Amino acid sequence: MALAPESVKKLAGLGAEIGIEAGAGDKAGFRDSDYTAAGAATMDRATLLSGADIVTCVNRLEADDYSKLKPNTVIIGFLKPLDDPAGLAPIVNKQLSAFALELVPRITRAQSMDALSSMATVAGYKAVIDAAERLPRLFPLLMTAAGTIPPAKVLVLGAGVAGLQAIATARRLGAVVEAYDVRAAAGEQVKSLGAKFLEVDLGGIQTEDKGGYAKELSEEALQRGRDMVAKHAATSDVVITTAQVPGRRAPLMLTEQAVQNMKPGSVIVDLAASTGGNCALTKPGEEIQNNGVTILGPLNVPATVPFHSSQLYSRNLTSFLALIIDKGALKIDMQDEILKGACVAFQGGNVHPKVAAALGQPVA
Ligand code: NAD
Repeated sequence: MALAPESVKKLAGLGAEIGIEAGAGDKAGFRDSDYTAAGAATMDRATLLSGADIVTCVNRLEADDYSKLKPNTVIIGFLKPLDDPAGLAPIVNKQLSAFALELVPRITRAQSMDALSSMATVAGYKAVIDAAERLPRLFPLLMTAAGTIPPAKVLVLGAGVAGLQAIATARRLGAVVEAYDVRAAAGEQVKSLGAKFLEVDLGGIQTEDKGGYAKELSEEALQRGRDMVAKHAATSDVVITTAQVPGRRAPLMLTEQAVQNMKPGSVIVDLAASTGGNCALTKPGEEIQNNGVTILGPLNVPATVPFHSSQLYSRNLTSFLALIIDKGALKIDMQDEILKGACVAFQGGNVHPKVAAALGQPVA
């Protein structure tokens, strides 16, 4: 759910009137009565769309929603401009305006709008819980009258926001944790959480872009990572994979052979399943067994923790909205670094280069 009741009050403070699609908050634990008590009006989807100046959403709108919008309506949400730019054609063709939260630059001023980090935090936590539930072993070291049980060993691949949260969660459950990331800067963060950072000699190549994201690596560099990962996966009980490169297929880190060499009963949770997966055997959206190893390829983990995912997302959106609403009126300064960065299209212009290229338009 894009807006939680707590955000309604904040947005009303900006002078905005809030409409909520009736029943839309039910699955997140927000009742229509919570919204009306906070000062919003609930209504059917068509009425809502035809009257809105701004539409906030989690994922893209449905195809037949666009025709109901007023000209110049602003759409804000996870719009997948890098993964599926062609799917944004209705926004450009109808001269609507849209901002994609996944494009918000990761600068200090935009930290409160960082919805990718919010969702990654939830996903990293839940991946460990899902693994623990399936693992036929306990996580913590236990010293019992029946003898000692050693702690589970967890390997985390990719130590960005999701990976770090997975490390912290696995540590809280008592596991021994190792982690790997191509960005050397991740090493300190991994160690500060009490995990061991695995290093691979990549020959001093640049692994990070200026936005702080990992770059796509050469096949040789990837192979060095895979060899090291295979060695450590063979002795791990759980492998959580989170490695992503924005706008590209997720890097392959765990080969079929590496999975064959894992212990029976071990569990892999591939959080990169939606962008192709870090494990060669992952089936996106499915849970499979291979040679005694359970492999989960969840596609939308935050949706399995709907209350807090919605609450965090709603706070991120509310911060973004505070940038474009002034005393109840829309005020969009396209010189603002955050708005420029997040823009998919603005009143028919400012089309994001990837979207323009996918639609066969000249790239600005
Ligand atoms: P992401 O989801 O794009 O990727 C997850 C992790 O996978 C990254 O740490 C990346 O380095 C790693 N990775 C990619 N290819 C790999 C490979 N071949 N082998 C091993 N690891 C690989 O990243 P993210 O979690 O969104 O975060 C990316 C960076 O942005 C991090 O440095 C994070 O700390 C930083 N960040 C900054 C801010 C901010 O300043 N506001 C907010 C959030 C994140």
